[in-house]
Amino acid sequence: MWTLVLNSGSSSLKFALLNPATGELRLSGLAERLGAGEASIRLERDGQRETRALNGGSYGEALGEVLKELDALNMRHEVRAVGHRVVHGGESFSAPVQVTPDVLEGVRACVPLAPLHNPANILGIEAAQQAFPGLPHVAVFDTAFHQTMPEVAYRYAVPEEWYKQHGVRRYGFHGTSHQYVAGQAAELLGRPLQELNLVTAHLGNGSSVCAVAGGRSVDTSMGLTPLEGLVMGTRSGDLDPGIPDYLARQAGLSLTEITAALNKKSGLLGLSNLTNDMRELETAAADGHAGARLALDVFVYRLAKYIAGMTAALGRLDAVVFTGGIGENSALVRAEVLNRLGVLGLKLDSDANGNLPRGKAGVISQAGGPAALVIPTNEELSIARETARLVEG
Ligand code: ADP
Repeated sequence: MWTLVLNSGSSSLKFALLNPATGELRLSGLAERLGAGEASIRLERDGQRETRALNGGSYGEALGEVLKELDALNMRHEVRAVGHRVVHGGESFSAPVQVTPDVLEGVRACVPLAPLHNPANILGIEAAQQAFPGLPHVAVFDTAFHQTMPEVAYRYAVPEEWYKQHGVRRYGFHGTSHQYVAGQAAELLGRPLQELNLVTAHLGNGSSVCAVAGGRSVDTSMGLTPLEGLVMGTRSGDLDPGIPDYLARQAGLSLTEITAALNKKSGLLGLSNLTNDMRELETAAADGHAGARLALDVFVYRLAKYIAGMTAALGRLDAVVFTGGIGENSALVRAEVLNRLGVLGLKLDSDANGNLPRGKAGVISQAGGPAALVIPTNEELSIARETARLVEG
């Protein structure tokens, strides 16, 4: 059975046609600058790439191009379901669900929690329902995997009515990625997932860690929004909640300006005053750029602290898993983090870490302590599998 996976952003639509059983990818691509004039669509099939201009540039038009491609591949009637990535499911969704009018209402009710993402997800689903009227549509939530967190992990120490009336609690994100790499880690270790206590570190432009006990999320570093936790590309991660008020008074900034800076001008970019891109930071740090070195150091230090902290949620640590663009590709970050975590018994295998082929999973620790693993994430495949599981019952 073939599944179309869609990830709609505020001006973009990412798509992939996958076989969830085999992982085979027949078609993928990205439509960009939707609704902003010069929209375009990039397609990749059978190893060939092509970029086309999109007239009009709505989700519907982008999906029209996808349909044309499916026809060209003779695959339109092979598609059995459409899986949609949805960012915020609040407390309403703890698993993937088939989209119904009630489900769309539920996603709409979560818009205040993700005012940029959820409206785009809803528009994407509605356009896809028109483009593929006969197919089941499934919503797979970024937050759902973390709904198993216990109350001690998800409550903030704030007035109770903030939680009861406004849903102020920790939700967590990157759920499909944490869940996927936890499953892959069990396969790599040759042990049942139910027996394993893992810390998974998804390190990309956005970054989060998750404590996974027996396949269930028991804590994670992101909160009500993706701003909490680790240092990220342009997001600050944790900071003193007194800072916005202080800055409003001292620098005359509005809350909107402060929030925008914490999301878009902070993190690696803010610390280095150079770039949010880890690869460029590594090069600049090697060339002696002090800001780049500082950004790397704070990133690694915060990450090591968080991994160690997550072990308090687990009791016992079997493995740390690195994934995402940085986790999969930066041997430097992995080495520096693991070298800070000797206290947990983690011992880096420098050769294995330095020589791991790009895009491959592998063990980068020495025997005799918790394992350290690199596992490439595959959120599209994970969404396709969840979709297929639900549709096939
Ligand atoms: P997103 O969260 O947008 O999906 P990715 O998971 O692709 O992002 O991660 C992007 C990050 O991965 C960037 O900071 C990029 O510099 C980093 N990255 C990719 N390749 C390498 C590499 N070879 N060495 C170090 N960092 C890398």
